[in-house]
Amino acid sequence: MTQTDFAGIPIILTADRILLADYPTLLDGMTAASQTSGTPAWLMRRFVSPPAPVDGFRARKAPLGLRLLEAALREAGFSAAEVAVVPPEELRKAIGERTRLVAISSGDPLGLGMNDSTMSAIADGLPYAPLWLAEMCAQLREIKKGLPNFKIILGGPGVWQVEQNPAAGRQLGIDDLCCGYAEEKIVALARAVLPPLPRGGRGGEALTNAKAALDSSEENLPPLPPLVKGGRNNIIPSILAPTNMGVVEVSRGCGLGCSFCTIRAQPMIHLPVEKIVRDVEVNVGGGATSVCLISEDFLRYGAENVELAPARVLELARAVRRTKGLRLIQLDHVNISSVVRFPAAELKVLHDLLVAGVTHDYLWMNLGVESASGALLAKNGGLGKILPHPVENWERLCSEAVDKLIAAGFTPMVSLVLGLPGEKEDDLRQTLRFVQAQRAKRLTIFPLFYAPINSSAKAFQFDDMTPLHWEIFRLAYAINFKWMPAMFWDNQRGAGVPWLKRVLIQGAGWLRMQDWRWRMWKRARLSEKTC
Ligand code: SF4
Repeated sequence: MTQTDFAGIPIILTADRILLADYPTLLDGMTAASQTSGTPAWLMRRFVSPPAPVDGFRARKAPLGLRLLEAALREAGFSAAEVAVVPPEELRKAIGERTRLVAISSGDPLGLGMNDSTMSAIADGLPYAPLWLAEMCAQLREIKKGLPNFKIILGGPGVWQVEQNPAAGRQLGIDDLCCGYAEEKIVALARAVLPPLPRGGRGGEALTNAKAALDSSEENLPPLPPLVKGGRNNIIPSILAPTNMGVVEVSRGCGLGCSFCTIRAQPMIHLPVEKIVRDVEVNVGGGATSVCLISEDFLRYGAENVELAPARVLELARAVRRTKGLRLIQLDHVNISSVVRFPAAELKVLHDLLVAGVTHDYLWMNLGVESASGALLAKNGGLGKILPHPVENWERLCSEAVDKLIAAGFTPMVSLVLGLPGEKEDDLRQTLRFVQAQRAKRLTIFPLFYAPINSSAKAFQFDDMTPLHWEIFRLAYAINFKWMPAMFWDNQRGAGVPWLKRVLIQGAGWLRMQDWRWRMWKRARLSEKTC
């Protein structure tokens, strides 16, 4: 195909710049996702959230969700010429008169998620994820004026926000929403907007066939269904190209039922070791030095029911570790109840397998404590996180899990949720006591503001902060400021980030930390005066 023949890619998959950027490690990506407009845009675009590398207009690395949609479409017979993952900056080059669908993924399209609402309350300014999404949608609306033949569909983990605020979706120019896992739905959608191909199918000659078919349909766009529900997919395809931060899916869903969580009702399924290793190899083959094995509870990998399967967890870690050229292996979440039940010796073996061959002293794992009050957590649908232990043991279990992870060599990253519905002073005192007990340990603690995923509940806001909330916040960040610089340095070193870049990031991080200290002090004073 010559440049003059090019009339756009029929199905384009993209994401806001926070999701579709070039991050060396998961920690870098999480830091970028926590920034507000208080961080200068030039610093964000150049250093914190640098642009994704491209081949032409195609992203060389992309969020896992988009890579899975791409793989599902290709498996369904759509050709490489019909599907592309494109970063926001390259959209103008990829869209043309034959473009029929632009599918966007966003983690926090309206900034209503717990992370963004906390950050914008404390650090001032608007979160970058919704800001950059709005920027991208404005660009798409502009392109649509000259090329009205494509639909814009929004999906991703934050799509519930637009589902509850349809006016905001219309303002952005979104034609349709896709909720939940979407590998099967994207194929149905693509088939709805792309007319059936002439005989010969979507194979080697697909480009010519698609061209003819699309030419005949430009005036006649089929309507999309009003709301596309994703749900659970039976087949999860293998990725064809590298993901951002080397993210590889290990298990899907959780199903433990916490009312503040979008996947509370999706039972956990585990992917086969062979598929996981294949996805890791695709990333390493594409130049990644680190991967991140994601799951809502890595320690539950391979478990058939409530019993854990440590041997299967270690089998997976060993298989991934054998990948040539792989340095850092990061995990994201583990459940407290699983840590408590996982044998200590096997936990140490797991840690040593993950860091084998690299200098990596701060391998972190996210632990969802949410509140040290088991009663409050259970009242909010979090009983599944606590079981099979009694609710009243929750605070002790949380401390035990932290200690056990530290003893095995991990650095726990604890999350707390402030303002859960029904939260009382006693609950807060219990959480404060938990945080105080962690002061001398090597961990981080991130308190987040409660953000409901259904419109009937009230979001926790800055004005709701009491002196007790502030005390939890202040203590948690005193711990974070102590450990975060070393964690960052260590993670980036483990992933092979060049020394100079690490030094620059440490400098920028130090400045940001001073700014946060000052803002927290100022806001806490303000809140004390108004209490
Ligand atoms: S345990 Fe975690 S992932 Fe599972 S439902 Fe609760 S909050 Fe969601």
